[in-house]
Amino acid sequence: MIAPAMNTRPDEVLPFPVLARQKARISRQIRLKHLPRLATIARAGGDGALEVTLAFSYDSRGHVHVTGELAGTLVLDCTGCAESREFALDLDFECFVVVSDQQASEISTSNDVLVAEGAEISVADIVEDEILLSLPERLCASQPCERLPEMRYPALNEIESAPGDDVSSESPFAVLAELQISDPD
Ligand SMILES: [Zn+2]
Repeated sequence: MIAPAMNTRPDEVLPFPVLARQKARISRQIRLKHLPRLATIARAGGDGALEVTLAFSYDSRGHVHVTGELAGTLVLDCTGCAESREFALDLDFECFVVVSDQQASEISTSNDVLVAEGAEISVADIVEDEILLSLPERLCASQPCERLPEMRYPALNEIESAPGDDVSSESPFAVLAELQISDPD
């Protein structure tokens, strides 16, 4: 399907071989409704749209290479305290787009490779995995989370000082000894 209005459809299908030949650079806005896997774990923040810039080219061996930039705000649940927090997405990535598994096998495994059906791929196809891989496991900067209810602290402390793990937790003298060692004076 050829998208009739390419500049206004964020889920538009991109003719990536043509774009690579033209060394095209495109900018689009994409919304979570076009990113169904991301939408299961994130909600839109900010104005609800993610800004996407994609630059297409052919590498020396004739593979379509894409460099991308993504920016926007997502709302995610922290895995530590389950609180919703905003996450600023600011991501550079690159990937190859190929048309067959055979072509994919020609590209070094250290690269991200997308296998497109036919000669078209959508903006969402290109960016969704990149976003999912960039999300942090924990959103809160401090550990345990600054918003974690206090009643849950003891359980965490027990986990951190498992028996035999660290003698200093059992002996105040060991703690003092450690402090003296680590003091440069
Ligand atoms: Zn948290």
